[in-house]
Amino acid sequence: MNNFDNFVNGRWVASETYNKNINPSDLTDVVGQYAQGDDNLVELAVSSAKQAFAKWSKSNIQARADILEKIGTEIIKHSQKLAELLAREEGKPVAESIGEVCRAGNIFKFYAGECLRLAGQTVPSVRPGIGIEVTREPLGVIGLITPWNFPIAIPAWKIAPALAYGNCVVFKPAELVPGSAWLLSEIIANSGLPDGVFNLVMGPGKTVGDAIINNKDVEAISFTGSVATGKRIAEVCQSNQTKVQLEMGGKNPQIVLDDADLELAANLCIQSAFYSTGQRCTASSRIIVTEGIHDRFVELLVNKMKNLTVGPALSKGTDIGPVASEAQLKQNLSYIKIGIEEGATLVYGGEKLALETEGYYMRPALFVDTISNMRINREEIFGPIATIIRVADYTQALEVANDTEFGLSAGIATSSLKEATHFKQHANAGMVMVNLPTAGVDYHVPFGGVKGSSYGPREQGTYAAEFYTRVKTAYTFA
Ligand code: NAD
Repeated sequence: MNNFDNFVNGRWVASETYNKNINPSDLTDVVGQYAQGDDNLVELAVSSAKQAFAKWSKSNIQARADILEKIGTEIIKHSQKLAELLAREEGKPVAESIGEVCRAGNIFKFYAGECLRLAGQTVPSVRPGIGIEVTREPLGVIGLITPWNFPIAIPAWKIAPALAYGNCVVFKPAELVPGSAWLLSEIIANSGLPDGVFNLVMGPGKTVGDAIINNKDVEAISFTGSVATGKRIAEVCQSNQTKVQLEMGGKNPQIVLDDADLELAANLCIQSAFYSTGQRCTASSRIIVTEGIHDRFVELLVNKMKNLTVGPALSKGTDIGPVASEAQLKQNLSYIKIGIEEGATLVYGGEKLALETEGYYMRPALFVDTISNMRINREEIFGPIATIIRVADYTQALEVANDTEFGLSAGIATSSLKEATHFKQHANAGMVMVNLPTAGVDYHVPFGGVKGSSYGPREQGTYAAEFYTRVKTAYTFA
C-alpha cells in the first residue's frame, strides 16, 4: 500500500500517522494511505511560507506567470489520471471529473495571465502638486481550507489566485479526498516554485484546520465548506483580525414556469439536482413549478429520473455515482424519512441500492406536495434529493425562491423575456441562471452568493484580487 506524504518547505514530509482513503464505489478498494499532519507541521508550514513570502511577493511577474501556466498545462496533460483518481476517491463519474480537472487547469492558466494584468490607479489629488497612486499588494501567508465535493477545482480556484498575486499558501484539503489534493500538489511541487511558497498539510479539520486558523502569522483564510464550520472559522478570524472569505451551503431554487420549454426544463433539473450525486453547493434542490404544467412536468421529470444509471464512478455508462461517504448517505436517507414524516409525497427513488460492488449508492429521489417551510425545503441535504413546490404564478414562484436562508444560485426556465429579466434583478442570489442549470459556471467570472451562502469578497475571475490583495494609497509631492 502506497503512503502519501505532506509537502512542507519544498520537501515531502513523512508522518507517524497515515489514514486509509476508501473508494465509495467499492468499499474493498483502498485508494492509498495519506499522511496526517499536526500542530507542529502546521507551524513549520506557516513559518516556511512566511519566510518565502519576502522574495515571492517581489518576484518577477513573468516568472510567476510561467510557473502558473506550467501548472495549468500539466493538470490538463494529466487530466485522465487526475480524473480517475478523483472518481475513485470521491465517486464523481469520470466524464464529470474530467470536466472538473480541465476547469482547474484553465484556472491556473487564467491566473498566469492575471500575474501580468494587476494594474493600479493614478488619481488626481484635491491638493495642488500632489499625485496619488493606488496599488495592490499581496497579503502574506494564506490558509486555504477546502471541502470534498470539488477536490481539484476548489483548491485550484484558491491556490492559483493566491500565488498569482504574490502570496504564499498553506493548503488543507478535506479528509475524504486527500488523493486529488496530493496529485495536484505533486504537480505544483514540480513546477519550479521556490521552497515554502506552497505547502500541503493533510489531516483533520479539528486539528490541522484549527491550527491554521489560529496561527497569528496567517494573514487570511479562504474557506469553502459547511455553514457550521464556516461560522466557527469566522469567529476565530474576527478575533485574530484575520481576513476571511467563506463559501458555504446552498438551497438553490429552480423555477419552471407554464411557458417554459418543458423538455429543456426537465433536462436542466436532472442535471443540476442529481448529477454529481446532488453534492454541489449550486445544486437545485427546490424545483418551483407553476400549476398549469405541474402534473405534466412531474411526470416528465420522473420518466427522465428512471433513465438515470446509478453505478460505480469509474464505470462507463454511469450517470450518478455513489454518495461520497457513509455519513453523507445516512444524512440523505434520514432526510427521506423526514420528508415523508412532514407530509411530502415521495414519488420516486430515495432508497439505498445494492450493486455489484458494495458502495454508498442511492437512487435519486423526488418529493412532491411540499411546502416552503418543510425541513426538506429549508435545510441543505447535499444529496440527490429534490422537491417540487407547486405555485400559482411567477410572483409566488419568486417569493418562494427567495424564501431561504441561502442565496448562492437561482434558476428560471421560461420563454418570457419579461419574467426572465425581472428574475435576474430580483432573485436574491449571487448567481442567476435563465434556461440553464443552477450548477455549472464559467471559471473566469465571479463566483459566490448572498445571505447564509457566502461571506467576504467573491472568488474567481479578476474579482479574486479583492480577497488576495490589499490596496495601498501612496501620495507624492514633486
Ligand atoms: P466541512 O465544513 O465539513 O469541511 C470543510 C473543510 O473544513 C474540510 O477541509 C474540513 O476538514 C475543514 N474543517 C472542519 N472543521 C474545521 C475546524 N474546526 N477548523 C478548521 N477547519 C475545519 O464541509 P464539507 O462537508 O467538506 O463540504 C460540504 C459543504 O461545503 C456543503 O455545505 C456545501 O454546500 C459546501 N460547499 C460550498 C461551496 C461554495 O462555493 N459555496 C462549494 C462546495 C461546497
